[in-house]
Amino acid sequence: MSIVKETVMEVDQAVSASVRPRKLLDYIGQNQVKSQMSVFIQAAKARGQSLDHTLLCGPPGLGKTTLAHIVANELSAQLIQATGPGMDKVGDLAAILTNLQKGDVLFIDEIHRMNASVEETLYSAMEDYKLDIIIGEGSSARTITLDLPPFTLIGATTRSGLLSAPFRDRFGINLRLQYYDYEELTDIITRSAGILDVQISGLAAQSIANRSRGTPRIANKLLRRVRDFHQVSSSELEIGQVSADKALELLGIDEHGLDDMDRKLLAIISEHFNGGPVGLESLAASLGEEKGTIEEVLEPFLIQSGILVRTPRGRALTAKGSKIAGLTTVSY
Ligand code: ADP
Repeated sequence: MSIVKETVMEVDQAVSASVRPRKLLDYIGQNQVKSQMSVFIQAAKARGQSLDHTLLCGPPGLGKTTLAHIVANELSAQLIQATGPGMDKVGDLAAILTNLQKGDVLFIDEIHRMNASVEETLYSAMEDYKLDIIIGEGSSARTITLDLPPFTLIGATTRSGLLSAPFRDRFGINLRLQYYDYEELTDIITRSAGILDVQISGLAAQSIANRSRGTPRIANKLLRRVRDFHQVSSSELEIGQVSADKALELLGIDEHGLDDMDRKLLAIISEHFNGGPVGLESLAASLGEEKGTIEEVLEPFLIQSGILVRTPRGRALTAKGSKIAGLTTVSY
């Protein structure tokens, strides 16, 4: 990766961190999840015990990591972050677990991508706060058991269906984040604009919200890009709706919140596969994209918006999807 790209990414990540809410009260939307979490946190605190292990499910960018940070913050606990694919070996997990302090929150992102032996080692740690490690090999191998301090595991996954039943059952709290509605996204954009010192009209914030695919991460990203366009093309201090719409158009985001990749997917199903159904493999090959990206990033929003359906024989466009595919022009 070039230094310039890295720097841009670092700046974007730093901005993301700065707009990330730190308290449950500042976490917009997800009212059911919030009220449940608030009760569980209060109860755990009153008992002086660690919170039950919690599984957060939902598409990328809906606020799983943010919620994990908030939970740790509300519990006045330390948050240790890891990712499922980052823990290849049992030793990687053991190193993290043996360094935990009483009450710590261990957040594992993409927990569905953890390998099976690491997952099984986690079972006794979750259930009895014990870690079984096998030392040596063959006939001389022996198991030693280490005691761990009570801790809370928060797992985040975009694919809860890929978790094995025994693993899922070990989470006492199981929460699913939903896509945000238009008002909630407008509030998120207005809040982020305030933190980033960006002046934006209510209508411009609504325009961005409309095209954010129900996802705060996208809303915040579009806000930053709209701000960039406005900064170089206008002398006005406040971003108005016309300026926001122009920027969004230049970014290739249409009024349904679809970007080039979505439109390409719809056009391929419509033109190459007669509207579907088409199997995931064929779709991935035609689109030149990973199956996982289609399943985890592109599809959930298209399905939720009634544009695409998953049938036993593959993916197919709905009437709404066909209409959009017929109306859009795609360059590929
Ligand atoms: P995930 O872990 O689900 O992929 P994140 O927690 O990283 O998503 O959220 C992406 C960004 O969206 C964060 O930087 C945060 O600023 C913002 N965000 C997410 N959920 C909310 C929310 N409920 N209220 C305000 N901002 C949010």
